[in-house]
Amino acid sequence: MSKNLTISRADLEAMDRFYREGGLRRMASPHVHYQEASCPHPGCTHKMEWIDFQLELHGDMDAVYKPLVKSWWEGTGFAGRCPACQGWVHFTTLEMKALSEDEARHLPCLPDQWHALAQFA
Ligand SMILES: [Zn+2]
Repeated sequence: MSKNLTISRADLEAMDRFYREGGLRRMASPHVHYQEASCPHPGCTHKMEWIDFQLELHGDMDAVYKPLVKSWWEGTGFAGRCPACQGWVHFTTLEMKALSEDEARHLPCLPDQWHALAQFA
Protein backbone atom coordinates (compact mmCIF):
# COMPACT_ATOMS: atom_id res chain seq x y z
CA MET A 1 0.00 0.00 0.00
CA SER A 2 1.50 3.32 -1.01
CA LYS A 3 1.26 6.38 1.14
CA ASN A 4 -0.74 9.12 -0.47
CA LEU A 5 0.52 12.47 0.71
CA THR A 6 -1.44 14.62 -1.68
CA ILE A 7 -4.37 16.44 -0.18
CA SER A 8 -7.61 15.77 -1.98
CA ARG A 9 -9.98 18.51 -3.03
CA ALA A 10 -12.51 17.15 -0.48
CA ASP A 11 -9.95 17.43 2.36
CA LEU A 12 -9.06 20.95 1.24
CA GLU A 13 -12.71 21.94 1.24
CA ALA A 14 -13.26 20.41 4.69
CA MET A 15 -10.27 22.34 6.09
CA ASP A 16 -11.50 25.47 4.35
CA ARG A 17 -14.93 25.08 5.94
CA PHE A 18 -13.38 24.70 9.40
CA TYR A 19 -11.17 27.75 8.82
CA ARG A 20 -14.10 29.83 7.61
CA GLU A 21 -16.32 28.92 10.59
CA GLY A 22 -13.65 30.31 12.94
CA GLY A 23 -13.29 33.49 10.88
CA LEU A 24 -17.03 34.08 10.73
CA ARG A 25 -17.36 33.72 14.52
CA ARG A 26 -14.69 36.39 14.96
CA MET A 27 -15.79 38.48 11.92
CA ALA A 28 -12.05 38.66 11.21
CA SER A 29 -10.70 40.96 8.52
CA PRO A 30 -10.02 38.81 5.41
CA HIS A 31 -6.47 38.08 4.37
CA VAL A 32 -5.42 35.27 2.12
CA HIS A 33 -2.54 33.43 0.50
CA TYR A 34 -3.04 32.02 -3.00
CA GLN A 35 -0.92 29.17 -4.29
CA GLU A 36 -2.02 30.10 -7.80
CA ALA A 37 -1.07 33.73 -7.46
CA SER A 38 -1.45 35.05 -11.02
CA CYS A 39 -4.49 37.04 -12.04
CA PRO A 40 -6.95 34.50 -13.52
CA HIS A 41 -7.54 36.59 -16.66
CA PRO A 42 -5.74 35.29 -19.74
CA GLY A 43 -2.76 37.40 -20.72
CA CYS A 44 -2.53 39.18 -17.35
CA THR A 45 0.57 38.30 -15.35
CA HIS A 46 -0.29 40.38 -12.30
CA LYS A 47 0.54 38.46 -9.11
CA MET A 48 -1.57 38.62 -5.97
CA GLU A 49 -0.03 36.01 -3.71
CA TRP A 50 -0.71 37.44 -0.27
CA ILE A 51 -3.60 39.84 0.12
CA ASP A 52 -4.65 41.62 3.27
CA PHE A 53 -7.84 43.32 2.13
CA GLN A 54 -7.83 45.77 5.09
CA LEU A 55 -11.56 46.30 4.67
CA GLU A 56 -11.67 48.14 8.00
CA LEU A 57 -9.86 51.04 6.28
CA HIS A 58 -12.83 51.72 4.01
CA GLY A 59 -14.48 53.36 6.99
CA ASP A 60 -18.03 52.22 6.27
CA MET A 61 -18.67 49.30 8.62
CA ASP A 62 -22.28 48.65 7.59
CA ALA A 63 -21.93 49.12 3.82
CA VAL A 64 -18.48 47.63 3.28
CA TYR A 65 -16.95 45.76 6.18
CA LYS A 66 -19.82 43.71 7.54
CA PRO A 67 -21.37 42.41 4.28
CA LEU A 68 -18.00 41.63 2.66
CA VAL A 69 -16.51 39.99 5.74
CA LYS A 70 -19.62 37.86 6.21
CA SER A 71 -19.66 36.81 2.56
CA TRP A 72 -15.95 35.96 2.70
CA TRP A 73 -16.26 33.62 5.67
CA GLU A 74 -19.49 32.08 4.47
CA GLY A 75 -17.58 30.91 1.39
CA THR A 76 -19.29 33.10 -1.22
CA GLY A 77 -16.32 35.43 -1.32
CA PHE A 78 -16.50 38.70 -3.24
CA ALA A 79 -15.60 40.32 -6.55
CA GLY A 80 -13.05 43.02 -7.26
CA ARG A 81 -11.21 44.33 -10.30
CA CYS A 82 -7.64 43.25 -10.95
CA PRO A 83 -5.48 46.36 -10.41
CA ALA A 84 -3.53 45.59 -13.61
CA CYS A 85 -6.01 44.41 -16.28
CA GLN A 86 -9.20 45.74 -14.61
CA GLY A 87 -10.86 42.36 -15.17
CA TRP A 88 -13.26 41.18 -12.49
CA VAL A 89 -11.84 38.58 -10.13
CA HIS A 90 -13.80 36.36 -7.77
CA PHE A 91 -11.83 36.11 -4.51
CA THR A 92 -12.57 33.28 -2.10
CA THR A 93 -10.63 31.60 0.70
CA LEU A 94 -9.72 28.84 -1.80
CA GLU A 95 -8.93 30.57 -5.09
CA MET A 96 -9.23 33.42 -7.56
CA LYS A 97 -11.45 33.02 -10.61
CA ALA A 98 -12.04 35.22 -13.62
CA LEU A 99 -15.50 36.77 -13.78
CA SER A 100 -17.44 38.58 -16.46
CA GLU A 101 -18.95 42.00 -15.69
CA ASP A 102 -22.34 40.32 -15.46
CA GLU A 103 -21.20 37.58 -13.06
CA ALA A 104 -19.51 40.14 -10.83
CA ARG A 105 -22.78 42.02 -10.49
CA HIS A 106 -24.29 39.01 -8.73
CA LEU A 107 -21.64 38.99 -6.03
CA PRO A 108 -20.80 41.37 -3.22
CA CYS A 109 -18.23 43.75 -4.76
CA LEU A 110 -15.16 45.39 -3.30
CA PRO A 111 -15.09 49.20 -3.55
CA ASP A 112 -13.34 50.47 -6.75
CA GLN A 113 -10.24 51.60 -4.88
CA TRP A 114 -9.89 48.40 -2.84
CA HIS A 115 -6.35 47.76 -4.11
CA ALA A 116 -5.14 51.16 -2.94
CA LEU A 117 -5.98 50.23 0.64
CA ALA A 118 -5.19 46.51 0.53
CA GLN A 119 -1.70 45.21 1.20
CA PHE A 120 -0.03 42.80 -1.20
CA ALA A 121 3.04 40.67 -0.79
ZN1 LIG B 1 -5.35 40.97 -14.20
